[in-house]
Amino acid sequence: MSQLIAVIGGDARYLELIRQLKQLPDTTIILVGFDKLEQGFMELNEMELDELDQSKLDAVVLPITGTDAKGNIETVFSDKVINLNKDWFHKLKKSSIVFTGITNDYLSQSANETGITLIPLLERDDVAIYNSIPTAEGAIMMAFEQTDHTIHSSNVLVTGFGRVGNTVANKFSALGANVSVCARSIRDLARITEMGLRAIPLEKLSENTHNCDVLINTIPSPIVKKEAIQNLPVNAIIIDLASKPGGTDFEFADKRGIKAILARSLPGIVAPRTAGKILADVITQILEEEREAL
Ligand code: NAP
Repeated sequence: MSQLIAVIGGDARYLELIRQLKQLPDTTIILVGFDKLEQGFMELNEMELDELDQSKLDAVVLPITGTDAKGNIETVFSDKVINLNKDWFHKLKKSSIVFTGITNDYLSQSANETGITLIPLLERDDVAIYNSIPTAEGAIMMAFEQTDHTIHSSNVLVTGFGRVGNTVANKFSALGANVSVCARSIRDLARITEMGLRAIPLEKLSENTHNCDVLINTIPSPIVKKEAIQNLPVNAIIIDLASKPGGTDFEFADKRGIKAILARSLPGIVAPRTAGKILADVITQILEEEREAL
């Protein structure tokens, strides 16, 4: 059975994603919001949103950022405004699947009201864990760029031991850093110890920053506060990986003269091809499962 997929907006990661989706059997891909790319990009159909008959679509792939609160799409490869209003969603088939990186109230509500399936890819454990690899490599790249010492033998403090924190701690440790990890659950503290790393209960963070060279935050909550920053050595740096606005008191870090960087979207920056492949693999798997279920 043939299927029709529209990719509406997207960044550099989406070039690999589209390349991979194109290989699917009996599949037609339509691109919207890629008009700044060369004509005939990958020999696929490019359209304006109002030329697209959404009632025929089996799947829609939205950018990682999904839409804003009014349904606007962030487009890297187009200057045109693309708005998916509620009416647009209502015209989709009930059986269609909408993929996005993250969701918000607008998108989730639109999906609920219309009965379509919305899949926020970055909320899936598998995607988050695969994505943590380029994220950790991006953190390593930043540590190389922003310090004048090796990672080997440096004191790295990671806050948070979720999917990103775990991989970051692991990769820095593999490079020979002395890694400490701050977490709040006793289970995580036990696992950190088992991995041969130094486990610090989160409430003791500020008492443990005095010899830290690189502090990497992965907790999307205000955790790296004044006291923790106050105790950092002057030449320490903070790399905050948590989603906007991060978990660091950036204003205080600035006053204290500590370099603190909110490093967003590292997979798309350091490894767009890998990041696109991660998304494409999961989308392909979900679409294949859907087809088999029919
Ligand atoms: P995760 O698996 O949910 O882990 C989050 C960690 O933060 C867990 O250790 C969790 O502890 C802890 N945490 C959450 N809220 C907390 C709070 N209020 N107080 C104390 N600890 C708290 O998330 P993840 O996949 O690792 O992602 C972490 C962050 O990185 C997210 O904001 C994500 O959007 C971001 N991210 C950024 C990039 C980038 O390129 N910069 C790439 C990927 C992800 P518990 O387990 O005890 O709840």
